[in-house]
Amino acid sequence: MIVSEYLRELPVALGPDRRVTFVQKAGRSLTEIQTQPLTFAALGLWAFRSLGLRAEVDTEGVCHVRVPDSLRAKFGGQAKFDCVFGGQPGDSAGDGPLWFTPASPLGEQVFELVRNGRATLHATPTTQPVSVHELAAALFSCYSVVDGHVRLAGCRLDNRPVLRRTHIHRDAAGTMYHEYFASDGSCLDEQAVASLGLEHVDPLRGTRSRDERQRAQLLLAAVPPAVREDEIAQIDTLIWCKYATGKLHFAIGKHSSELDFEGWTGALVRGEASPPPFRCPHTGCESYEIVAADDGELTVAAALDQCEESGMRVASSQLETCAATGKRVYGEILATCPLTGERVVPSSLRSCKMCGQLVSRSAIKAGRCAACRRLKRIRKDDPRMALVLNEHPRLDQWRNWKPAETADAYVLLAHAALRQTLFVIDKETLRIRYCAISNRWWTRWTMIPDDQHEQVLR
Ligand SMILES: [Zn+2]
Repeated sequence: MIVSEYLRELPVALGPDRRVTFVQKAGRSLTEIQTQPLTFAALGLWAFRSLGLRAEVDTEGVCHVRVPDSLRAKFGGQAKFDCVFGGQPGDSAGDGPLWFTPASPLGEQVFELVRNGRATLHATPTTQPVSVHELAAALFSCYSVVDGHVRLAGCRLDNRPVLRRTHIHRDAAGTMYHEYFASDGSCLDEQAVASLGLEHVDPLRGTRSRDERQRAQLLLAAVPPAVREDEIAQIDTLIWCKYATGKLHFAIGKHSSELDFEGWTGALVRGEASPPPFRCPHTGCESYEIVAADDGELTVAAALDQCEESGMRVASSQLETCAATGKRVYGEILATCPLTGERVVPSSLRSCKMCGQLVSRSAIKAGRCAACRRLKRIRKDDPRMALVLNEHPRLDQWRNWKPAETADAYVLLAHAALRQTLFVIDKETLRIRYCAISNRWWTRWTMIPDDQHEQVLR
């Protein structure tokens, strides 16, 4: 397998063939996967090439090698030599060509130089999806969007390396096996190797981008080479696979949601890896079936629950318990009592007969809310009064004030000789929200319409 790949990038290999066992090391298991002919010629020519030696094989099967100046010292000062691939380890051809096998003196010397040089090959899976169109179709097929659709909101395909380290054994059979490493240095198992299409690769030519060179450096640093005693050499091949990162856009009606995905395109397209399931933003429930809740928000069926007040089906975490009725109610339709902070259905709110504010039933006694029941006389330089008088200077005509507070308003009772005037002033805007009058003794209050507030202040 491996050598047939080298053959594709090397000149036609000649010389006696040997049969070798190819095994693939997957994780911790070492399994024999196939046996096929190996030409030492292919291996030798690859080794010469990776060292920068020029080698040509003639019709007789003799390889003529030219040694560059920089390497002559390593080859006994020779500018060229001839060799024949194959033979038994230790064979000598006398004055004729040298024998080249992984274990012959020449083979050992060449692979020693390869080891030191750490030549790295580049390859790419023979078949892998390279178009966004192909990937999109596979991604979309994972999801079912009820009454809606899914599209790509962005997708980028990068080349990312997997390291294939080929170990060549010193044994007579010349056993070879591959180990595959991911970018974090972890060993890929057989399934991952198959799903990335790493079993069949083509040589990759051309230069790598800066990003790619950095990724390659990190990966090679994560898996330092360690040629063992029983090995002639290790050959590193960086197999560049397409890796996708992007966003999926789901839409039902006017509502939409996005989901990040990433993964090897080969695995995604072959269905051996899946994009993430859609995650309901409210409940965290996950599914590949996306539905719209009755409030339009995208969620998954398992996350839906029914509001007992409105009948709407919404994400269950959006339901709250109404403090007045005990019903599970969609939070968006609940009101918050400004006095108790209770969340209640609006229909359960009661109006205070004195200040007109809508409050929960538990805040009302004898028709008056808790704020109106705790009005206490204060001095006019109370900081709350100072704030209100600054905004409404004409309120200063009253000398005696009794204030109280709710979560969002000041309730101010002004005393005069014959009349009491009550103002509810919004804490945030200081706008007069409500005004009512009563005579000094009666408990009956008359609400003053908004457009008559000015007259009261006159
Ligand atoms: Zn009140």
